[in-house]
Amino acid sequence: MFVHEKTYDIDELVLDNLHIHTRYSRCANREMHVRDIVRAADAAGLRTIALTDHNYIEKHNAVAAQRLKILKKLEKVPHEVRVLVGAELSSYGIGKFADDVECDNALDYRLYTTNHYHQHYWEHPAEKTPRAYAAHMLAIMDGVIESGRADCFAHPFMAGYVKAFDDFRDVTRAFTDNEIGDIMAKADAREIAWELNLPAVRDDPAFFRRYFHIGREVGVCFNIGTDAHVLERVNAKAFAEEYKQLLY
Ligand SMILES: [Zn+2]
Ligand SMILES: [Zn+2]
Repeated sequence: MFVHEKTYDIDELVLDNLHIHTRYSRCANREMHVRDIVRAADAAGLRTIALTDHNYIEKHNAVAAQRLKILKKLEKVPHEVRVLVGAELSSYGIGKFADDVECDNALDYRLYTTNHYHQHYWEHPAEKTPRAYAAHMLAIMDGVIESGRADCFAHPFMAGYVKAFDDFRDVTRAFTDNEIGDIMAKADAREIAWELNLPAVRDDPAFFRRYFHIGREVGVCFNIGTDAHVLERVNAKAFAEEYKQLLY
């Protein structure tokens, strides 16, 4: 469980980078050694980082054992930054979770994704319309909130992995302000944070500006995650100006 004080000041939020992949994620660059990530975070003067490797459906509950291996590596690297060893977990359908709750609860930071629609095992709505995808994503998020398994949503509402439409932003345009506000408030009541995911914000700034605005009005907790797959992305501070430009 990780909670920090609520702030809407980007310069404050970028002190934490809560979405970083190590070499344990197949999609991460081979340079993503734990020791080098931690050194990059210290060099940047970050306060907290979260290591959030992917779980893999065929490696049931493996992220909990992986955490112990990462902790051993961390012992060998003296560091100032606080390191949370978590995972990017999957709710691949409504009320469907890739790992057991005991596995999730063994982690320092449970970053839940609800929209990896490019994965073969991910469930899709029966109807292939932007509205149906929006409703499906909301129902998955609701299931995650009810489960009590999450600390934060990874790239929430993001539709970049929905390949059914010429413009994936048709899906984010299908969410109403009320739906966004209601689900954000519900998660906030259970101390679940909302990610400001760098690639997601870059790909759909009009939506994420709306999301940031609604979240501030509701008073939710936002977490910064650059979704680092290369060392150069570890320093979230380097992206502060870009976040401001895109979100304000
Ligand atoms: Zn993801
Ligand atoms: Zn990720």
